[in-house]
Amino acid sequence: MTDDAADATRTGAGAAVDRVRERAAALAPALGATWTEDEPWRFLTDLTAIGSRMAGSEGERRAAGLVADAFERAGLADVRAEPFDLPAWERGSASLDVTVSGRDGEPATRSFEALALPYSPSGRVAGELVDVGYGTPAEIDERDVEGRIAVASTTTPEGGRFVHRMEKFGYAVEAGAVGFVFVNHVDGQLPPTGSLTFGEEAEAVAVGVSKETGAWLREYAVGGTVGGAERGSVGGAVDTASQGTTGGSGSVARAELSVEASTTPGESRNVIGRAGPDTDERVLLLAHYDAHDIAEGALDNGCGIATVATAAEVLADAALPLGVDVVAVGAEEVGLLGAEHLADRLDLDRVKGVVNVDGAGRFRDLVALAHASTAAASVAEAVSTATRRPIEVDAQPHPFSDQWPFVRRGVPALQLHSDSGDRGRGWGHTHADTRDKVDDRNVREHAMLIALLVVEFAAPERDLPRLDRDELAAAFREADFETGMRAADLWPADWD
Ligand SMILES: [Zn+2]
Repeated sequence: MTDDAADATRTGAGAAVDRVRERAAALAPALGATWTEDEPWRFLTDLTAIGSRMAGSEGERRAAGLVADAFERAGLADVRAEPFDLPAWERGSASLDVTVSGRDGEPATRSFEALALPYSPSGRVAGELVDVGYGTPAEIDERDVEGRIAVASTTTPEGGRFVHRMEKFGYAVEAGAVGFVFVNHVDGQLPPTGSLTFGEEAEAVAVGVSKETGAWLREYAVGGTVGGAERGSVGGAVDTASQGTTGGSGSVARAELSVEASTTPGESRNVIGRAGPDTDERVLLLAHYDAHDIAEGALDNGCGIATVATAAEVLADAALPLGVDVVAVGAEEVGLLGAEHLADRLDLDRVKGVVNVDGAGRFRDLVALAHASTAAASVAEAVSTATRRPIEVDAQPHPFSDQWPFVRRGVPALQLHSDSGDRGRGWGHTHADTRDKVDDRNVREHAMLIALLVVEFAAPERDLPRLDRDELAAAFREADFETGMRAADLWPADWD
């Protein structure tokens, strides 16, 4: 029997584990070099020193140049930038003032630090604050938010899936909220940021505030809590005179929320290089390199793009059976705009699979989100077993990273993340997402694992069936995404 025939007769998980072991052995010099490399740290240093890498900004353009240099150094072929247009959002000032009566019945106004959320329009609204808790659709349904400013947490209830800001904002605005305040659940006077929409000006003003500010706002809000006890009605008809903070005076706090911002035509770019031969069929390895303007973007997604640039060096040494397009994607944070551009211009029938690195390289253990593809999940399981490295595999899909433009068109994908042990974004999307939080051992180790994942995606023996549209829609429904995705205008029209 030839080696090929032997390969063909080996099926299932055991064969995949053998394959990964063989390829890891063949790549031992490149993998070993990665173990001691200082390039990932130097690359992250250059990237985070830029400051803002906001989509469409000068910083994002400079970052694209650094990524292109890193891809060249890694040995990728045909490194180039592909520009695309986007509505570029730029931050101005924001303010949040709350007027509340004291014991003496005299009104006093307090000003809180607030950060506009990307794609918030400019504007000023006034009204009562309404505490919508975590901001899930069910909680918003229980409150009367009409004409009020909704106050929602960045985190979500334990046990359920993570509900995204866009779902909360979209649902609150649909229910009549005139403004939205997003309260961090992480200590440290850290107002969070995060886009309200996928690439278009939003319908209502919105800001992020710190956990500490949020504690005050909840006390001032209708349906707010004091000392852990729910205050006022949270269901059915709301009698505003009987609730909200009153300082004993019977009057309700009034908030004024103001945002200055602009959305104007801008340009971003994807940076693309190739490992392996120039074949028709390709595997895509993606990571976004843009970041929010208020941070260095060291974790989100500096670690991710550093991981991909490092994996590219290993892949450049691999005897790949087909081409792997390594793509640094722009403008992810404002609505996956680089990935949408990429998916639009590629023939997706020739994309065998997508490996999206958003969240890997940060924490010790790799997490693989398989986005409803059992084949993609089994790739992660094979690499985990073959390398004796824990990779937690989660099959549940979500639409909030760069795999989504591919997944919704049926292309199987893995998203690589890493586990902090905490719920939510941690330092991500805050001023504190800085280089000192990075442990580049994780970047290097995840780069090795991801290179092996990509090699297995590219293996001729590895079948990666397209995702069936009805099954995919069912998986999103089962994960309770339909309501939130519709509110955020993300539910695909052809899924009905
Ligand atoms: Zn990200």
